Amino acid sequence: MERYDTIVVGAGMSGTTCARILQDAGQRVLVLEARDRIGGRMNTDRTAGFSVDLGASWIHGIDGSPLWDLVQALDVPTVEFTVGSFQAGGRPIEDFDGDGRRMDAAASARWVDDVARADAALLDEIASSSPGDTYLDVTERVLDRSGLEPERIDEIREFFRHRVEEQCGAWIGDLDAHGLDEDAIEGDEVIFPRGYDELPNRIAAGLDVRLSQAVTAVSRGADGVTVTAGAENFTAASVVVTVPLGVLKAGAITFEPPLPEHMAAPLGRLGMGVFNKVFLQFPERFWDEGSYAIRALGEAGELWHSWYDVSAISGRPTLLTFAAGPLGRHLQELSDAAIVTDVLTALRTLYGDAVPEPVAHWITRWGQDPYSNGSYSYQAAGTSHIDHDALAGPADGVLHFAGEATWGDEPATVGGAYASGHRAAERVLGRSVDLAEFATRIVAAENG
Ligand SMILES: Cc1cc2nc3c(=O)[nH]c(=O)nc-3n(C[C@H](O)[C@H](O)[C@H](O)COP(=O)(O)OP(=O)(O)OC[C@H]3O[C@@H](n4cnc5c(N)ncnc54)[C@H](O)[C@@H]3O)c2cc1C
Repeated sequence: MERYDTIVVGAGMSGTTCARILQDAGQRVLVLEARDRIGGRMNTDRTAGFSVDLGASWIHGIDGSPLWDLVQALDVPTVEFTVGSFQAGGRPIEDFDGDGRRMDAAASARWVDDVARADAALLDEIASSSPGDTYLDVTERVLDRSGLEPERIDEIREFFRHRVEEQCGAWIGDLDAHGLDEDAIEGDEVIFPRGYDELPNRIAAGLDVRLSQAVTAVSRGADGVTVTAGAENFTAASVVVTVPLGVLKAGAITFEPPLPEHMAAPLGRLGMGVFNKVFLQFPERFWDEGSYAIRALGEAGELWHSWYDVSAISGRPTLLTFAAGPLGRHLQELSDAAIVTDVLTALRTLYGDAVPEPVAHWITRWGQDPYSNGSYSYQAAGTSHIDHDALAGPADGVLHFAGEATWGDEPATVGGAYASGHRAAERVLGRSVDLAEFATRIVAAENG
């Protein structure tokens, strides 16, 4: 049986990064991927002749971002779109009040100010929170003390709830009070007109990636590891498992001997959220030219509340909205037709008959996908960023985990996945690896 230096399980951003670094360092590397494609939760549908990113879309803040450095080194085009982290202001947003009425500039400005004040108070409240406090606990304490009238409090309450749903895929009462500490956005956000999955695909060029190979078991022995996919066994000195937290939590891979407590405990504690996308393409625009987003506050936005104008990607009028947390879990059980009707009803309460029937739609169901079993990880009440990093292991020096859920500084992101793949490769090699050199090698190989 052929023996590898390292087997990498999963060909998403973390797996391809890790494998490429190891191979460029001279290792014999095998990548086993369950899907019939590379990219994992970076998944671009190009069947309509333009890119539709069904998984990740954004770099959430390009300042000081190693991922942005990679994007620039690989000369990947991007479009500025700085509303991807549920900001209340900063860019033109069409706000509607709790009764579904368009807010004027003064009302919107007051709203943005309300959120800024509440967020400032929230920082103090989080800093003085007790272990086990949830995000719901700390936000309610802030709202109690705000002194604002009830409608304004309701709007901020909805905003906090929806921000947790979008950023974490979770219900606000399930998230730890510190669950958004790592959520700071430094600089502009960008999206990818050619499709985000260009990155893992270019990183994977030249790697031995075996598609449609779902790994079911990983065992560690005296002389390394054995990885089982279907009826086949593969052996190596070490293994880096990058499958999503949801897949690990579902027990889809058996570890023999079982995972040590320092990895099993965070695996049990961290949460896996659900965050789904609904793209609607319209024959014509009914919202303002230049608006980044549409947002319904308070009661008007209880379910569907935020729509993002992603027309720049396809050149056609397209809105992207999200169903996340409990709503996301519920809606993914419904048919496409029912979901589209529901979204249109919500839009028509804001824009009336101006909203035409869409000409196309794209809907995701990441919570039902057996190879992700959710969208991204979150800090469940009682956990911290330390749990994310602890999950990386290693176990017995030969079993490493990587992936967004293992990167405490920036979980739930492509940037976190990239950093975690880099860290796992450095741990396998036992030395540091310069990411600028990593990018240079990819470009050099592409240029022959
Ligand atoms: C709808 C959605 C929107 C998002 N938006 C953003 C965004 O705008 N910006 C951002 O930064 N992040 C975003 N994210 C998060 C981002 O996509 C992920 O954090 C990142 O892509 C994860 O990379 P990864 O390598 O950790 O995992 P993955 O990309 O999931 O890679 C893991 C791989 O393991 C494979 N696998 C699973 N089980 C097995 C098995 N048994 N055997 C072999 N292989 C297996 C999977 O098929 C997958 O290819 C979004 C995610 C979703 C779902």
